[in-house]
Amino acid sequence: MAKILIVEDEAKIARFLELELKHEGYEVELAGDGRLGLEKALKNNVDLIVLDIMLPGLSGIEVCRRVRQESQVPIIMLTAKDDVTDKVAGLDIGADDYMTKPFAIEELLARIRVALNRKKQAVQPLTDVLQIGSLILNLKSHSAYYDKEELILTKKEYELLEYLIRNKNVALTREQLLNNVWDYEYFGDTNVVDVYIRYLRQKIDEKYGIHLITTVRGLGYIIKE
Ligand code: CA
Repeated sequence: MAKILIVEDEAKIARFLELELKHEGYEVELAGDGRLGLEKALKNNVDLIVLDIMLPGLSGIEVCRRVRQESQVPIIMLTAKDDVTDKVAGLDIGADDYMTKPFAIEELLARIRVALNRKKQAVQPLTDVLQIGSLILNLKSHSAYYDKEELILTKKEYELLEYLIRNKNVALTREQLLNNVWDYEYFGDTNVVDVYIRYLRQKIDEKYGIHLITTVRGLGYIIKE
């Protein structure tokens, strides 16, 4: 099972995360400040790091920067509410994802699954094709086919579909889709995700009478295999 390092100085939050992650079956390491966090991140062979930004000792940004000099381990940053500067800084120095506090634990768990999934894919040999049922994506030409018939998709529709399929069987939040498929200029406006999901459903689900994209109530969307 994956080992997750939590770097968080607020003992209550750290304890809560530890319990929830252990409950999900993860192995958990804790660090209460930036220096210890960095040390454990570099030494203990962890699979993923949940890293608070506001930390005593070394800030989360600094920890992330130094970890990145040596390792590509997935890092999910925790930022104070609405601090866009921190968020951008974190992503600039190589964090994989971020969450603003307070957050729903389900959402963090979903992001952890995506990050671990992505890490697994990264070490697999690259393939040019993704397939789910009769739907095939050609990753080189950015084209999609259903039963060998080419789908006419815009660039964004294709990118959204590819992201959903790469993370198949994982419920993705609207914010996650927005952050990974669109640029930051759309920050906060998740309506655009619903609009593009509708386009994809028109072009695939409705056209071929299948149920490809499922809505996860109160969260976002999922493509199940
Ligand atoms: Ca903190």
